[in-house]
Amino acid sequence: MGWREDDYYFERTEALAREAMKAGDDGFACVLVGPEGDILMEQKNEAGTQKDPTAHDVMALVRRAVHEYSPGQLQECTVYALMEPCVMCMGALFWAKIGRVKYAMSEESMNRMLPGGLEIHSAEFADRCPAPMESLPRIPERPEAVEIVKEWIQSLGIG
Ligand SMILES: [Zn+2]
Repeated sequence: MGWREDDYYFERTEALAREAMKAGDDGFACVLVGPEGDILMEQKNEAGTQKDPTAHDVMALVRRAVHEYSPGQLQECTVYALMEPCVMCMGALFWAKIGRVKYAMSEESMNRMLPGGLEIHSAEFADRCPAPMESLPRIPERPEAVEIVKEWIQSLGIG
């Protein structure tokens, strides 16, 4: 397939996030992209269906990916996520040696809509990492991703 534009991968995370919401999970998802630009793995948030608030898409993706790929392979991969990874997910990426993540919407934006999230940003985590790690926001944020998160917050009945 070869590398596509970043938006191609973000569109896939958005489609998956919508599926997650339909299933009763939180509206987030991510994909693992290999060194040649192929989507190797897809993962939706599963917090609702698993009854596990830590079942974030990035965390769940890492848990699957480490069984499928070697640390050397994972080092060459990029995770595309709808939402900026939280520190738990950044930690999982670090331990799995997946050194690069790109995201369509920042946690700062989400916190403006739904306060109570962690105010530790992924870039801060990446800067303090002993290994090279990049957490790269899409600028500007994707309006589609923001809309999905807005819908998800509305679905909670608290936004
Ligand atoms: Zn997370």
